[in-house]
Amino acid sequence: MYDIQKVRDDFPILSRQVYGKKLVYLDNSATTQKPREVVDAIAGEYYSVNANVHRGVHFLSQKATELHEEARRVVAEYIGAPSPSDIVFTRGATEGLNLVAATFGEAFMKEGDEVIVSEMEHHSNIVPWQLLADRKGIKIRVIPISDEGELMMDEYERLFNSRTRIVSVTHISNVLGTVNPVKRLAEIAHAHGVPILIDGAQSAPHTRINVQEMDCDFYAFSGHKVYGPTGIGVLYGKAEWLDRLPPYQGGGEMIKNVHFSHTEYEDAPLKFEAGTPDYVGTHALAVALEYVQKLGLENIESYEHSLLTYATERLKAIPGMRIYGEAPDKAAVISFTVGKIHPLDLGTLLDRFGIAIRTGHHCAQPLMERMGVQSMARASFALYNTSGEIDTLCDAIERVRHMF
Ligand code: PLP
Repeated sequence: MYDIQKVRDDFPILSRQVYGKKLVYLDNSATTQKPREVVDAIAGEYYSVNANVHRGVHFLSQKATELHEEARRVVAEYIGAPSPSDIVFTRGATEGLNLVAATFGEAFMKEGDEVIVSEMEHHSNIVPWQLLADRKGIKIRVIPISDEGELMMDEYERLFNSRTRIVSVTHISNVLGTVNPVKRLAEIAHAHGVPILIDGAQSAPHTRINVQEMDCDFYAFSGHKVYGPTGIGVLYGKAEWLDRLPPYQGGGEMIKNVHFSHTEYEDAPLKFEAGTPDYVGTHALAVALEYVQKLGLENIESYEHSLLTYATERLKAIPGMRIYGEAPDKAAVISFTVGKIHPLDLGTLLDRFGIAIRTGHHCAQPLMERMGVQSMARASFALYNTSGEIDTLCDAIERVRHMF
């Protein structure tokens, strides 16, 4: 079913060495490595198709436009969106979240109105709302989490009031790995008459997404975390919302007619895509999503889950190990500390063994405060990692522990 060696062969970078050691790449929540097909798609388009999209009558421009618009169709299919026109290309999850905060905030929020986020959000789903708070005086309400790292759903329900305008919550925590009950969160938001934005940065690579089943109003993710290129991302929006939101940025592509007296905007999604898009990136993203679909998201999910179970068991056996996030529904990411060893020291020493993990606050400082630490180490797994790499990680942590 899942030929791990064949999968690894698709990723040339995995065979490189670091400090004379075999690379063990366990920083996949930050970014994923790219299969050969994706890199070839980028080079291939520059070598033989490159031209600006949507504006040329010539052969190359039409070819590039076809690839770009075909990518919208592939993305729509990947996340179960009803139509390619519900797909807005962005620079990444961060830009998608900013786009909604800025445009929804502009059109539908005024001083004293409220947004609900959670205690486990990435800074990308906190700061855009703080910018809006500075501009318009909106308030940010926060869903607390339990010690195990789960959203406290009763508290969530209690946060709604007549000033609540939108909910914006992550699907999967990049620190705790918690998979949030997004369908239920959406049901509750809708019962209170407000839309919900889902930060899908950590879910699009790991689990099958169907935005219609989830019934979210917006869903944002990044290409580089799902084996695609960096600099490209996606914002899905329900058509009724995309139609109602004002443009985000002004420029070419997003207009029908421009006069000094007035300007008419394009319909969604072009209304939100000012300037020349990253049309090479969109095509390469489509190639990445097709690669993932070829392996099968169900296969990937169950394979990664087996890695999570094995890694959790092995890590827990290390004296002084503390794992943050023990929700029953958890994705393959493990954040931890070991005794009094500073995560930065741990990460730096593991690097010398060729092992790439992440250390620090993981762009989630409010969550660090909640957990009572300033930083953590994090091993995050992808479809190409192996149990052998987990053994290498655990053996190396033991060696570092003995050094201390
Ligand atoms: N949201 C979550 C949960 C993330 O993990 C990340 C990146 O780590 C982001 C948002 C931001 O993604 P990007 O930097 O690709 O825009």
